[in-house]
Amino acid sequence: MASRSEWIACRRQGSRKVREYFTTIYKTVSTIAKGMAVTLRTSFEPKATLAYPDVKPLLPERTRGRLHNIVEDCIGCRACERACPVDCIAMDLETRGPDEPRPLTSKESGAIARKYRVPRFDIDFSLCCWCSLCVFACPTHCLTMTKEYEFSVFDRAQWVYDFGEAKLGYDLDKKYWKDHPDELEAFMKKQAEKKAAEEAKAKAAEAKPEGT
Ligand code: SF4
Ligand code: SF4
Repeated sequence: MASRSEWIACRRQGSRKVREYFTTIYKTVSTIAKGMAVTLRTSFEPKATLAYPDVKPLLPERTRGRLHNIVEDCIGCRACERACPVDCIAMDLETRGPDEPRPLTSKESGAIARKYRVPRFDIDFSLCCWCSLCVFACPTHCLTMTKEYEFSVFDRAQWVYDFGEAKLGYDLDKKYWKDHPDELEAFMKKQAEKKAAEEAKAKAAEAKPEGT
């Protein structure tokens, strides 16, 4: 037969278990209620997610997407190439001779005479780290970051984009002079005057008697 102290200990243990039982039920119900309250509240709030790719996000103004070079405004200064920390920009340049007219860059780019043709202007986007240093370095602002971010490829070689003149599909010089006949005329006139002055100078030198 159990002693009085054993009987009291047994009663206390029983009441603790009952308390634990009801505490567990309370916690379960209150936790579910809290979760459901959050679900209910957020169901009426504006959605933070997008059904991408069907719905595209609105990107901020200064998004750093794929680079683009407007080669018509590129003066071949190589500032971008030097600024690039991973050497992913490479270009070929051809110098226009002193007798060749030099097309100007656009007014927005400073209307600078283009001494160099840029037949090849490669950017390897498999190396680019989107630091934008090349964009900051470009004096004519022809190199920009677009908002384009969907250009996955299966072959890394396809990540080398060529923005050079050879890829334009037309002769940049011919098109420029066709669009700016006045500038070409002025250049030709200047050249003719220069030639005439040189010829006159040569004639004067010939006519000068020797020893005088
Ligand atoms: S963004 Fe940076 S890494 Fe990419 S081409 Fe420009 S300088 Fe090079
Ligand atoms: S810095 Fe600008 S202008 Fe100079 S080579 Fe690069 S893209 Fe062309």
